[in-house]
This record gives sequence, structure tokens and C-alpha cells, in this order.
Amino acid sequence: MDEGKRVNLAILGATGSIGSSTLDVVARHRERYRVFALSAHRSADALLALCRVSRPSYAVLSGMPRDAQLAAAFAQCGTELLFGAAALEQVAADARCDIVMAAIVGAAGLASTLAAARAGKRVLLANKEALVMAGPLLMRAAREGGATLLPVDSEHNAVFQCLSDIRAVRRIVLTASGGPFRAAVLESLEAVTPAEACAHPNWVMGRKISVDSATMMNKGLEVIEARWLFDVAPEVIEVVIHPQSIVHSLVEYVDGSLIAQLSNPDMRVPIAHALGYPERIASGARPLDLTAMKDLSFERPDERRFPCLRLAYAALERGGTAPAVLNAANEVAVEAFLAGRLPFTGIARVIADTLDAVPTGEAANLEAVMAADGEARRAALARVPGMTVAAFHP
Ligand code: NAD
Ligand code: MG
Repeated sequence: MDEGKRVNLAILGATGSIGSSTLDVVARHRERYRVFALSAHRSADALLALCRVSRPSYAVLSGMPRDAQLAAAFAQCGTELLFGAAALEQVAADARCDIVMAAIVGAAGLASTLAAARAGKRVLLANKEALVMAGPLLMRAAREGGATLLPVDSEHNAVFQCLSDIRAVRRIVLTASGGPFRAAVLESLEAVTPAEACAHPNWVMGRKISVDSATMMNKGLEVIEARWLFDVAPEVIEVVIHPQSIVHSLVEYVDGSLIAQLSNPDMRVPIAHALGYPERIASGARPLDLTAMKDLSFERPDERRFPCLRLAYAALERGGTAPAVLNAANEVAVEAFLAGRLPFTGIARVIADTLDAVPTGEAANLEAVMAADGEARRAALARVPGMTVAAFHP
């Protein structure tokens, strides 16, 4: 393919774990993809280093005020540097951009993901929080904008790969590793440290999702994500713990067939699938050696150990803005835990109390969702002594 035929890709959250895995896959296929835009919140040096390699048209520092000296440094790579969160929406909706990798962490990724959907892009969705907060709005925006939403979350990507006849689906089984505390003594959870919570047994990920995996709120968010992505009732979605993280999820059909997707735990597999779809492209992941594999085991999650999972199902059932409240309370509680201001077991407590305290209503539009998000953040912050602000901005 000549230069003009390459597909233009924006990676929002380029300095993160998903961002760097995406750049790794893209580097294997330079003839197919051109990096159009990259974003980071405040990590200017890391972003500049990426721009020196990829030479995108735009770079965005969403959490920084304009800085002429920085802009001059980026200009040396042929890159125009934009500042502030609105620039994320600008590059996501740019007419020259074909694919948007939505890899910002948390609620901060919602507006740009929505902008990409409205603009009819192929949206590679890693930012699950966007669907949790505003599932019906985002799905409608994608439909009306003519966008294609492709799941990057490994479980949803697996389900997507296993789906043939959605009307004949009996069960969607999301697998979960159970995180680092699956087998820990229950009483010891009160005292676990952020470093212990972030030491995931199978995946290397950003800090927020690592803590979410340890509490299993990650799986709760993924249940909500699956509900909207595949338009299935919550009862159809089941969670099982699978400590080896080899089977990434399964779909059961009315005829009794259970279809699974397997691979080594490496996010480059779902990223390459979503990038190349419907073609298959190399991801760089190590092939799975079936004969060297140990047991594949499955178990039911323990509700006492993982109360966050039940909280997520409850918020989904309550509907409207309740999942946005759940998500915001979780973001505050996780950040408080990472800052050493909340014990690990306090995370579920803060979320449950916030859900009880904050009234919820219809999630009619983005304003209603953001208002619920704001109110939930204030209510959650009031439950963490000494915390005044909480936002993930590495
Ligand atoms: P990360 O913390 O490694 O990276 C986050 C990226 O978002 C960084 O580039 C950072 O600069 C940017 N960012 C942070 N706060 C921001 C803000 N307020 N505004 C704009 N940009 C901001 O996170 P990650 O692990 O790569 O996860 C990214 C998303 O992908 C999350 O929604 C996560 O749930 C999802 N996801 C991650 C994995 C994984 O393996 N890491 C797997 C499945 C889904
Ligand atoms: Mg996942």
C-alpha cells in the first residue's frame, strides 16, 4: 500500500499500558497504519519520546495549559501539540482520522469516546468506564454516527470473537483471574498495600485497573460493559473465576455449545484483532503451547471476598445514572486507597455508602450523566478523611 492508503489512527491514552501495547502492534504493520494523533494527560516527556518515533500530525496534553517551549519541541517531530481536554474530542472527530483507540483511564475518557462515536469512527474501546457511565448514550451515538465499536477489553473481545447468532445465546461467561487476593486469608485484606494490590498475577496493567481487578470491581464494570455492548439482559451474563487467564471468555448457545477464545494473557491479541478486523494480523504475542499448559480451572466468585461485584450488578439493575455513580465512587475510592488514605476493604464500603446516599435518575443525556458523576465524587470524597480531589492524571 502506498502512503496515501494507510489508515490514520489516533491513540488516546498513548502513554498508558494499552497505549504502548497498541503502538507495539502498530509498529509491526507500518504499511497499514499511520499514527495520526497521540495523547497523554501530563506526561510530556513520555509523549515526546513517542512522537519522535511515530511522528504523528497531532499530540495532545489534555491536562496541561499551553506552553510554547513544549510546542516547539514537538514541532521538531512535525507534530502540532494541542493542550487541554477539548483537544481530545477535536482529534477524535477529525475528518482525517479513521480509527480511534480509546485508551484513557476512567471517566476522563467518556467525552472523546463519545465524540469518536458521533463522528462515525472505528472505535477500539479499551475505556470500559465510558460504557459503564453512559452505555445507552454511547451505543446510540455509535448507531447514529455510523461508528463501529470494537471491544478491546480481552473478555469482550473474546465474546465478540465467539459470537455468531446473538438470538441463540443462552449465556455469556466472563472469566476473571480473581486477582492477587483470590486465595488470601479474608482477614488479611484490611491491611494489604497498594503495591500488593497492583501486583497482578497474570497481567501488567495501569494502577487503577489493577486495583479494580483485585477488588473484582473490574469484572463488575465488565458485566455492565457487556450488557450494553452485546445488548443482552444482565441475567445472561455470568462471571467465573479462571485463575490461569487463558480462556478469555465464553459464549453458550441454546444448542448446548460453549465457544471459548484462548490465548496467552497479552493485550496485543485483542488489540490486533480490533485493529485488523475483519482481517487477522500478527500481534507479537507468544503462541499458546497447549501441551505445556497446566490445568484450566474455573470457580465461582466468593461474594464476601468480592463485594464490589454484587454492587455493580445492583447498580446495573437500578439503571439510569446508578452505574455512573458506582463508577465515580469507585474512581475516588481506588485513588484514596492508592494514596494510602483508605484501607483496601474501605473501597467497597465507600462505593456502597455513595450508592445509598446519592439519588439517581434517568441518564437522558451527557449532562445528566456528568452531574451524577460529580455528585457521586463529592459524596465519595466526603467519606474519605483528608481527600479533597481525586482524578487519575499520570
Ligand atoms: P494507564 O493508567 O496505564 O494509562 C492511562 C492513559 O490515560 C495514560 O496515557 C494517561 O496519560 C491517560 N490519562 C490518565 N488520566 C487522564 C485524564 N484525566 N484525562 C486524559 N487522559 C488521561 O491505563 P491502562 O491500564 O492502559 O487502561 C486504559 C483503559 O483501558 C482503562 O479504561 C482500562 O480499564 C482499560 N483496559 C486496560 C487493560 C490493560 O491491560 N491495561 C485491559 C482491559 C481494559
Ligand atoms: Mg478485561
